[in-house]
Amino acid sequence: MEYLSTRGKHKNVSAAEAIRLGLSPDGGLFVPAEIKKISREEIMGNKDKSYQEIAVWILEYFLSDYSRKEIEEAVNAAYSKQNFPAAKVTPLKKLDTDRYILELWHGPTAAFKDLALQIMPYLLVIAAEKSEIDDEIVILVATSGDTGKAALEGFKDVDGVKIIVFYPEAGVSRVQKDQMNTTTGRNTEVVSLQGNFDDCQNAVKEVFSDQKFKEKMERNSYRFSSANSINWGRLLPQIVYYFSAYFQLINDNAIDKGEEINITVPTGNFGNILAAYYAYKLGLPVNKFICASNDNKVLTDFLKTGVYDIDREFKKTISPSMDILISSNLERFLFEITEHDSEQINKWYEELKENNRFKIDSKSLAKIQDKFVGQFSQEDEAKQAIKICYQNFDYLIDPHTAVAYDSLDKYRKESSDLTTAVIDSTASPYKFSRAVLEALKDKTVEKDEYRIIEELKELTGTEIHRAIKGLENMEEKHQRNCAKDGVKAQLKDILAI
Ligand SMILES: *Cc1c(COP(=O)(O)O)cnc(C)c1O
Repeated sequence: MEYLSTRGKHKNVSAAEAIRLGLSPDGGLFVPAEIKKISREEIMGNKDKSYQEIAVWILEYFLSDYSRKEIEEAVNAAYSKQNFPAAKVTPLKKLDTDRYILELWHGPTAAFKDLALQIMPYLLVIAAEKSEIDDEIVILVATSGDTGKAALEGFKDVDGVKIIVFYPEAGVSRVQKDQMNTTTGRNTEVVSLQGNFDDCQNAVKEVFSDQKFKEKMERNSYRFSSANSINWGRLLPQIVYYFSAYFQLINDNAIDKGEEINITVPTGNFGNILAAYYAYKLGLPVNKFICASNDNKVLTDFLKTGVYDIDREFKKTISPSMDILISSNLERFLFEITEHDSEQINKWYEELKENNRFKIDSKSLAKIQDKFVGQFSQEDEAKQAIKICYQNFDYLIDPHTAVAYDSLDKYRKESSDLTTAVIDSTASPYKFSRAVLEALKDKTVEKDEYRIIEELKELTGTEIHRAIKGLENMEEKHQRNCAKDGVKAQLKDILAI
């Protein structure tokens, strides 16, 4: 399997090279050069496999320059019982006869990002070995919350790698901050920045594009890399759980072999839903993809009109991991839809840069609408969904999952399409306890986050996720703080260069 860039200048790149580079040097994203459908027979032959076995099967397909042994070792280390202690790595929970919740939050940090970030470090280290680069890899992350902790846990104590996370001082919740600052490991660093998430992201981007700084790093045997979902190594592992979900449906007699399903994904950067689309390209029987957004509904509008327009107010919501205007992985999707027309992609993304918007042609739009539907939920609708889901099914969902739940509801009412649906649950409700408790009680709650967590447990009798239990009393390991323009100085100090 070879990879090429969506912007067309880089072709015939190996999987290891694509994963090591992250972003293509021409500014594009790497995608597989060709995806051949796997036969129905071969797919269904895997229905009784464990999650780890399904992962090896899918990863082998895409990582042809990795040995089977390398893949197996990475999979077994990442998806161990210790990291994912639930009975299944991604259990499927039945709501009613035709709606199922795919729980993607049983990993170490209670967010779905663990499924990719637990294995990506192994894939990256193997990639570096293959390209015979001995420099220490420095992973730089700008985070609005969930990615930071998931990346820290994934890369902690991995030899040959250092991970440095920057988060906005006032932009993360108490729990998120505590999750990051209590991270152990000899290679982890966490820095709070005096600014908002955009300041954080801009500061890190500015470091990545500073040629002089990069040379200074290389003279000191360091090399930057990113753990962001632009990296193919982060997207690929997410394909696995869509097959796992499908097999669980078959084994639960919810569907027949080969029957199509609907998949609903609470979407931010378009990574998770794109992984579902790749599963479909491999042969997974899917009828519709429902792309669920919150008030930042750039994607809902795009899927309706074909106009991608980011010139709008950014809104802070109770589903913060979806508060995104530029969904980077959409570029990969458009590249697939246009059958790898990089000239077209370049035009659209130049337009986006100049005018904050672009409009796709009607043929591409029709092709997208054949499979994709966009829906969005406002704040009160998401809260209502938390309450209804709990009342009707005795099942607690977080605000991101609630957006997906509500979006599916709207789609079903509009379309009368009652195909068996999988709803991605991307975070444990305990990660966003305040919004969940307020939704259940129908009023604002003026309490410290940890007291809210206790109240939520008492009210619902559910287990507090282990990532959050006891967090309040854990020792703080990181206290670094810097100004917006202090990122490079922090890096120099941390790396002693
Ligand atoms: C990151 C995240 C999302 C968005 O996923 P994308 O792959 O960026 O679309 C949704 N929910 C939660 C809880 C997340 O952490």
